[in-house]
Amino acid sequence: MFISIEAGRCMGHGRCYAVAERLLTDDDEGFVVERGQTWEVPGGLTTEAEAAAQACPETAIVVRES
Ligand code: SF4
Repeated sequence: MFISIEAGRCMGHGRCYAVAERLLTDDDEGFVVERGQTWEVPGGLTTEAEAAAQACPETAIVVRES
């Protein structure tokens, strides 16, 4: 599974890292540090990745299988 966070859509609501604290981190302004990145989700964290995508009110986070 891969996760992408579109930097331009991220408004810093903070809901994503609240539900995926082992996968995502927050910066000093409340934005997710990993915005603008795409990376492969470690095997044990796929549920957290899906939860982060569902939690984001800006639909900034997309998960896909390949
Ligand atoms: S929930 Fe969405 S808008 Fe909020 S910090 Fe995470 S990616 Fe950005």
